[in-house]
Amino acid sequence: MPSRNLEGMDPLAFYKIPFMGLKAGKHEFQMDVDQEFFTHFPESEIEDAKGVVDVVLDYSETNMVLKMNMNLNWKVPCGRCLEELNYDLQREEQIAIQYGEETVIGEDLWTLGKNEIELDLAQTVLEMAHLARPTHQVHENESDCDQKMLGYFRTDKEESERPIDPRWDALKNL
Ligand SMILES: [Zn+2]
Repeated sequence: MPSRNLEGMDPLAFYKIPFMGLKAGKHEFQMDVDQEFFTHFPESEIEDAKGVVDVVLDYSETNMVLKMNMNLNWKVPCGRCLEELNYDLQREEQIAIQYGEETVIGEDLWTLGKNEIELDLAQTVLEMAHLARPTHQVHENESDCDQKMLGYFRTDKEESERPIDPRWDALKNL
């Protein structure tokens, strides 16, 4: 397992797949995701999640198919009572990749310009994790909440139940 903490090394290098020189056919990669990963993205609304993303890259010189299968466990304080909740963040993506003049990253079709030599999956992993979140991060029933804490936070209730930041939905349509 290569260390991601070597000084001077790109901390997200682990999420890049150099595809030049790969043999035609399927190549499997496993990318660990942990708390440290999310610290590289100030915009992340996820801090404490851990797990793996299994990646299969079907490579050929004319095109590629990328399959990503995410399985993370996310710890987040309940929006009402701050007690820690656990969610599974599971998501699959299949992305077709072709070569072209310019790099264009679409939802499920990427076009890579001639100068690209690697697939940088860090942003995709970040987006998949956010899209896998449940709409509300609170105990399903308010009666399951820590009642003592509820008293303190009663006035913040509406604020804490706000839905997911719509920017993450917008990302899907880029
Ligand atoms: Zn709660």
